[in-house]
Amino acid sequence: MNDVLPGDIGRWQRVEQIYARTLHLSGFREVRTPHVESTPLFVRAIGETTDVVEKEMYSFEHHGDALTLRPEGTAGAARAYLEHGVQSREPVTRWWYAGPMFRAERPQRGRYRQFYQLGAEIFGDAGPGCDAEMIDMLVSLLGELRVPGVEVFVNSLGGGATRSLHREALVSYLSPRAASLSPTSQSRLQTNPLRILDSKDPRDQDVVKGAPSIHDFLDAGDREHFAKLREHLDALHTPYTVDARLVRGLDYYTRTLFEIKGAHEKLGAGSTLVGGGRYDSMIAGLGGPDVPAIGFAAGLERLLIASDLEVSEKVIDAVVAPVGPTAVGAALGLARDLRRFGIRCEVDTRGSSLKGQLRRANALGARMVLILGESELAEGVVQVKDLDAHLEERLARADAVRVVLDRLVAASRCVDSQVSS
Ligand code: AMP
Repeated sequence: MNDVLPGDIGRWQRVEQIYARTLHLSGFREVRTPHVESTPLFVRAIGETTDVVEKEMYSFEHHGDALTLRPEGTAGAARAYLEHGVQSREPVTRWWYAGPMFRAERPQRGRYRQFYQLGAEIFGDAGPGCDAEMIDMLVSLLGELRVPGVEVFVNSLGGGATRSLHREALVSYLSPRAASLSPTSQSRLQTNPLRILDSKDPRDQDVVKGAPSIHDFLDAGDREHFAKLREHLDALHTPYTVDARLVRGLDYYTRTLFEIKGAHEKLGAGSTLVGGGRYDSMIAGLGGPDVPAIGFAAGLERLLIASDLEVSEKVIDAVVAPVGPTAVGAALGLARDLRRFGIRCEVDTRGSSLKGQLRRANALGARMVLILGESELAEGVVQVKDLDAHLEERLARADAVRVVLDRLVAASRCVDSQVSS
């Protein structure tokens, strides 16, 4: 679990801002659900034999309630959707969320025990149009986040019947070869054989090469759904690779499944930035009506490692420097006026020397320093130093804010211009 210190928070906020904007452009609205949910919700929604539920949940008892720190966002979103009867008011619901998730995994670069996910869900649309739209939106998002080497992998897992036929065939194929599998896969053979397909262990990969493909078991409806998804992606010119072995770690997926990777040497090869897919049976499985759904989650820390996005480290635009004890009140008033125009500024109220205040202005990356001493107060002026342009002028107090604003806007430096840029 990591601290995010102010020196890093600029990039976090920028990514969150771009994310929210992208999702709003596609009609998604933000939902905030609790960080703690009942343990049975995750067991039912994610699946009893998944790694997440078997080994990675932070679960505890409290006054007789079995609770868990959420390991992912979809189960809570589905619970909220159902609990508030949203399906009776909206034929299609588009929600996004951002926040911390908790999994007791072995920590390594890009894998933490508290990590942040940016996710979204569409309830009420069986696809495949919205599946393609979602994947395409994510590719655009990663472009805006300047993630190099983006690659999309898609697969179809089919519906429930397809999965059980495939599962049987897989178990018949793998059972006689069990001795050659890794110990983990040997134990998964009975519980969750599908996961053996995406094992990274070379022993498993050798065995799995000849395993029956899920694609041989897709029914006509599944096949048409998957073909249409690919057609839409082709029409959008969104490149993708079909990976018949893509299964992912959560049990709830049906039909469309996708992963997006980015090539960044700091993350190591093949690190997944975004994972998602359809979960058409989850709402019914939680006791609700039949509502098809699709969603994704992106790891925020991983996006930050993979992204070439840079943000300015300048935290302030102007420093108002009172010289002498009588100037502090006037300096606070001047700072308030600057802030009304969106100019980020700080006042040194500690009675520091002018030299010390200029040093502080430089350290904060301030461009303008507005000096108010006794003579300036007496004359109704402000001495304005432009540290970048190396200019210094005395301006009437009444003009100072406008002139400073003009300079900063010309240099795209104040908060408002950064937000809208
Ligand atoms: P999942 O919810 O397992 O489908 O994961 C979706 C995305 O969340 C992954 O592709 C990662 O980017 C991110 N993620 C999952 N687990 C972790 C973790 N322990 N630490 C950091 N990011 C994670």
